[in-house]
Amino acid sequence: MNDLTNPVEVMGIDAGGTMTDTFFVRADGTFVVGKAQSDADEAKAVLDSSVDALAHWSTTVEEVYPQMVTCVFSGTAMLNRVVGRKGLRTGLIVSKGFEDFHRMGRAIQCYLGYAFEDRLHLNTHRYDEPLAHIHDTRGVTERIDSKGGVVIPVRLHEAREAARELIEQGCKAIVVSFLSSYLNPTHERAVRDVVEEVKKEMGSNIPVFASVDYYPVRKETHRTNTTLLEAYAAEPSRAILSDLSNRMKENGAKFDVRVMASHGGTIGWKAKELARSLVSGPIGGVIGAKYLAEQLNIENIACSDIGGTSFDMALIVKSKFSMHQDGDMARLVLSLPLVAMDSIGAGAGSFVRIDPYSNSIKLGPDSAGYRVGTCWPEGGIDTVSVTDCHIILGYLNPDNFLGGILELDVPRAKQCVQDQIATPLGLSLEDAAAGVIELLDLSLRQHLRAMISAKGYAPSDFVCFSYGGGGPVHAYGYTKGLGFKETIIPAWAAGFSAFGCATADFEYRYDMSTDIGITDESSEQDKQDAIDTLQKAWDELTAKVLEEFKINGFSPDQVTLTPGYRMQYLGQLNDLEMDSPLKKVSKAAEWDNLVETFDETYARVYADAARSPELGFGITGAILRGSVETKKPAIPHEAEGDATPAANAVIGERPFYYEGQWVTASLYHMESLVPGNRVTGPAVIESDATTYVVPTGFETWLDGHRLFHLIEV
Ligand code: AMP
Ligand code: MG
Repeated sequence: MNDLTNPVEVMGIDAGGTMTDTFFVRADGTFVVGKAQSDADEAKAVLDSSVDALAHWSTTVEEVYPQMVTCVFSGTAMLNRVVGRKGLRTGLIVSKGFEDFHRMGRAIQCYLGYAFEDRLHLNTHRYDEPLAHIHDTRGVTERIDSKGGVVIPVRLHEAREAARELIEQGCKAIVVSFLSSYLNPTHERAVRDVVEEVKKEMGSNIPVFASVDYYPVRKETHRTNTTLLEAYAAEPSRAILSDLSNRMKENGAKFDVRVMASHGGTIGWKAKELARSLVSGPIGGVIGAKYLAEQLNIENIACSDIGGTSFDMALIVKSKFSMHQDGDMARLVLSLPLVAMDSIGAGAGSFVRIDPYSNSIKLGPDSAGYRVGTCWPEGGIDTVSVTDCHIILGYLNPDNFLGGILELDVPRAKQCVQDQIATPLGLSLEDAAAGVIELLDLSLRQHLRAMISAKGYAPSDFVCFSYGGGGPVHAYGYTKGLGFKETIIPAWAAGFSAFGCATADFEYRYDMSTDIGITDESSEQDKQDAIDTLQKAWDELTAKVLEEFKINGFSPDQVTLTPGYRMQYLGQLNDLEMDSPLKKVSKAAEWDNLVETFDETYARVYADAARSPELGFGITGAILRGSVETKKPAIPHEAEGDATPAANAVIGERPFYYEGQWVTASLYHMESLVPGNRVTGPAVIESDATTYVVPTGFETWLDGHRLFHLIEV
């Protein structure tokens, strides 16, 4: 029923590799989750998933879309386009003599994403195809030195020639990126204008990007890669988002779709810098976890998300997640601010193979995608996946996959696991499948432990949140024995990233590199210059932020601006990011306020004794965030009732293989459980898009917020 007094206002979308999840929130904060299989036509998957979600409220897309005020999208299409090198053909203009730096990838890209054992062996290193081909690269004579001075004036006639050739040979976009342009933008902008002129003369309307207009930051490989992504991958995504937006409008929508960005805020799909939505789905989960934790007054969270393809972890410490300034993604070094996360390519749909050298089981890193495994009813997958093992062992119900819209081929899964894993290892079918699950659990557990201890914490400092369709299946396995304060599984785990998108602020963030250094020897005038340089950077970034909001119809007075900066002790390699204690700076004396905030942050992140003020202080970057308030979901508040689940929640029994024996697991219907209910393992709690496994030795109860607490007994 469509209730007009309580309209549906917010929608979150997580278009993953396997499933497209949607999350709808009413004005009073109540919500529903929908799932559909992902599709090459993303708008179709979103509509299917919306239909699935809204059916729970007996209403339709046509009734709901016109009421909504906001919609946030996250997806993996852009990432897949980059990984599969299926982007726009892009031409690249660089400083003459440096035509090869993009291909060389700073000599580190060929290692990125490798397992430790593969990093050691040079013969396993592989250079990916560059984003811009060497034949589509041109050098133009020019040079700016490390202080921003012009050493060789730019030869614009060369730029003309380059532009003409690139357009003639079929480039669909052109990127201009010169050395040190972040210190002096004049050469890049002059060339950009020449390219614009040439393209007009030639009757072409391809987009032209000067790196300094997008990412005015040091490290040319990072800056060039990021600007290239803007052309290569973001422009095609813009077309998809535009299509989605139009298809929603056909169904009466009046809002503009926003996109989850790597910095943890959402941006308009018309945003100038769209490359920052390269990684978005897993970020949504972290934002959702932070929001949920704030509602529950929990400060330290270990976030864990298992989907079909990967396991993503992040830590929230004292209600803050940390940021990477130049995180790498898809084996590219980039200059995008990124919510710090660790991902491994092992998920519920990962392929399972026997390593021919060691005769041991290997998981991933590739996966069966939306076709989940050899059990896929239409065939096409011939390699065993983790999902096949889940089905053999009674973890997943083959008749309830995505609520039963697919009937999985169990006999085929059994045959494949037997032939590919059990027979070669000389194990029984169930022991082979159980070995795979144990190996996955162990590897997730080790990664989680390593991530936490590498940062100097212990699991006992954290509450673990487990989500993603596969999170509840493995929560017991990867938390077992780690000693978390608690393990919490939201009943809406399957749509948690989409939920996170619905909780995210509308926020743009821009960064600019600065070269500011002040020591004991610096004069008052040096400090004044430093302050002026910083404020000038903030002013430029503010203009960019306000321009983006203007595109989305917000005036400057509606935007909350938060300036920040990155500071380090001079000579140290790592800097830290922080919000500025002052909204504006103008006086030399204010330098000391900035230093004081840094000193405090440094002592908190490292240790008091590690502070080194005698080295002097440098500001390496200016940051500006602008945000506007958005409507957010409320978490449920229901009264707690009986410990014993009602009869309608009990849906039967099935054989379940755990620790070397078949036992009988009681089955429950997740949505029919009510707060207060307790379930003791062996039990399996089923939902349409996720399955919560509670083996022998575990117990769970549901609280009034519809959060399951998993307890080792
Ligand atoms: P996600 O990518 O977050 O949507 O998670 C997908 C994973 O959820 C699948 O690979 C399954 O292992 C897991 N899952 C658990 N229960 C179900 C279910 N009833 N239907 C579909 N997937 C499920
Ligand atoms: Mg997911």
